[in-house]
Amino acid sequence: MKKSLPDDFYFSQHALNLFKQCPLKFRFRYLDGFFWPGSWGQTAESQKLIDQGKKFHKLANRYYSRGWIPEKTGKNKQLVKWFSRLTNFCPYQEQGSYKPEYELRLNVMELKLMAKYDLIFIDHSRSHLIIYDWKTGKRPPEYKKMSGNLQTSVYLLVMARAVNEYFVQAGDITLDSLKLCYWNPRHPKRDINIDYDMKRYSRDKEKISNLISQIREYSYEDFKINKKQKKCTDCRFQAVCGPRKNS
Ligand code: SF4
Repeated sequence: MKKSLPDDFYFSQHALNLFKQCPLKFRFRYLDGFFWPGSWGQTAESQKLIDQGKKFHKLANRYYSRGWIPEKTGKNKQLVKWFSRLTNFCPYQEQGSYKPEYELRLNVMELKLMAKYDLIFIDHSRSHLIIYDWKTGKRPPEYKKMSGNLQTSVYLLVMARAVNEYFVQAGDITLDSLKLCYWNPRHPKRDINIDYDMKRYSRDKEKISNLISQIREYSYEDFKINKKQKKCTDCRFQAVCGPRKNS
């Protein structure tokens, strides 16, 4: 039986990125259902970085859930430092609404999209909404790269369509009052802020719609190697991909 995507499949930025990197990767993950834990194939060093990033996200989630400040964050000095930088950068305010680790799904026309946000902050007094995304990699985020990536497009597009339905108490939030902020506790002064407007909304909508239509039109056999793919060495599907990647 030919495998295909279920009709109720919601595209995340992760799924779209896999397709862009290599359609075969997408097929392995979402049509064949191959899945390995995040730790698979990681070096001890990169696993340590991933674990530290997860701990930071957990701490941020607890902080913004109710303004909770931990009495101690254990003996993890780096985590203590990162948390202190976070509370300086974006201190919890009683007068705003915080939605940490918040997932939204969008289902309009051919667009079935989902986004999981690290933090949504709504400033009711000014009808502003800021999406925060925490990065913990070694390199600081760069505006050009972050502004043009699929994560930014999906996050803002989903929010633009959903905001006034999900957060009715926030007042009338317009596209111009949405913002996405990438922040890395290793580089606390290098936050990247991406503003939104109708022009960007239309561009993103077209880009994402075209990508989803392309994926939906693919038959199982169409999901082939991206010949330009140069990063097979980082791909966790190498074990099942085998000789295909060299053909
Ligand atoms: S190993 Fe290379 S060709 Fe195979 S799925 Fe991964 S990225 Fe694609």
